[in-house]
Amino acid sequence: MMAALAAPRLIERLPRVRGRYSEGAALARSTWFGVGGPAEIMFRPADEDDLAHFLAQRPDDVPVVAIGVGSNLLVRDGGVPGVVVRLGQGFVDIEVAGTDVRAGAGALDGNVAIVAGDGGVAGLEFLSGIPGTIGGALRMNAGAYGREIKDVLVRADALDGRGRRVSASAAELGMAYRRTAAPEDWIFVAATLKGAAGDRQAIHARMAEIAREREATQPIRARTGGSTFKNPPGHKAWELIEQAGCRGLARGGAMVSEKHCNFLINTGGATANDLESLGEDVRARVRAACGIALEWEIKRIGAPGMAA
Ligand SMILES: Cc1cc2nc3c(=O)[nH]c(=O)nc-3n(C[C@H](O)[C@H](O)[C@H](O)COP(=O)(O)OP(=O)(O)OC[C@H]3O[C@@H](n4cnc5c(N)ncnc54)[C@H](O)[C@@H]3O)c2cc1C
Repeated sequence: MMAALAAPRLIERLPRVRGRYSEGAALARSTWFGVGGPAEIMFRPADEDDLAHFLAQRPDDVPVVAIGVGSNLLVRDGGVPGVVVRLGQGFVDIEVAGTDVRAGAGALDGNVAIVAGDGGVAGLEFLSGIPGTIGGALRMNAGAYGREIKDVLVRADALDGRGRRVSASAAELGMAYRRTAAPEDWIFVAATLKGAAGDRQAIHARMAEIAREREATQPIRARTGGSTFKNPPGHKAWELIEQAGCRGLARGGAMVSEKHCNFLINTGGATANDLESLGEDVRARVRAACGIALEWEIKRIGAPGMAA
C-alpha cells in the first residue's frame, strides 16, 4: 500500500518573490501589545512590484492580511493562518513637493509629520502623536486633535487582492470616524497628503506640545493597543468605562489603564485571551451600567488558542 503524501507546506505553494518569507514568524514582537501567536508565513515584499506579483500569483485559498507596526492590533494566541504582509524598507520613502507630502504606506506617521515640518508644510502635526504607519492610518482613518487622515488625503494608492493598482480619494474610500469602506483585501502602498505652507519653527513647536500632552495623558510607554473602543455618538468611551467602574480592572496579565481607561495594558505576562476577555468584560459592564454597546476600535486577527 502507498503511504499518503504529506500536504505541501504553505511556503512551497507561494510564488517566488524578491522579498522575504519567514515561516512561523513571531508576531508578538511586531505588535505594541507584545502578545499573540505566530504568522504561518510573514512576507516582507521588496517593493510595490514584488507585492503586486505576489498577490497576482498566490493561490486563491491563501488568506492574506497586511499589518503595520501593530499599534491598534490584537493578534490572538493561536496565530494567523496564511500570509501576513509587513511593509518594510521598500515602502518608507517620504517626499515633499510644494505643500503635498507623498509617503509610502510603511512610513511612520511621526516621520511623515517631521519631514512635512522640515519642508515647511503645516497641517500634518496631528500625525506626530499617532504611533502607526500610513497604511494603518488609511485603514483606520486615524486622527487626533480634531483632524483625521481623511481631512488631508489627496489620494491613497493600494493593490487589490489580485495585485492590481488602484487609487482613491477619501470620499471614494468612504472614510469616516475610525473606518474606511475600502475593500478588506486592499493593501495600501502609499498616500499623497495635502498640507499648507507654514513656519517650520511653529510646526515643530506644535509637535513638541503634542508630545508633552500625550506623555501626560496616555500610557505611551506601556504595552498597549491605543484606544480600545470607538467613542459612541455623543459619548467618550473612556468616560463610560470610568462610570462603569472599570478603571484598573484586571484579568490575568491584562489591565485597564489607570492613566487612560480606554487603553488596555499588558502588564507583563498577558495573553491575547486575557486582553480580549478583559475588553469583553468592560463592554458587558458598560452595557449594564450605561445601556451602551461599545464597539471595538482595536482590530483583532488570528485564531484563539493557547499562548506560547
Ligand atoms: C500609545 C498609542 C496612542 C495612539 N493614539 C492614536 C490616536 O491618537 N489616534 C488614532 O487614530 N489612533 C491612535 N492609536 C492607534 C494606532 O496608532 C492607529 O490606529 C494607527 O493608524 C495604526 O497603524 P499601524 O501601522 O500600527 O496598524 P496596525 O495596528 O498594524 O493595523 C491596524 C489595521 O490596519 C490594517 N493595515 C495596516 N497596514 C495596512 C496596509 N498597508 N494596507 C491595508 N491595511 C493595513 C491592519 O490590517 C489592521 O486592520 C494609538 C495607539 C497607541 C499604541
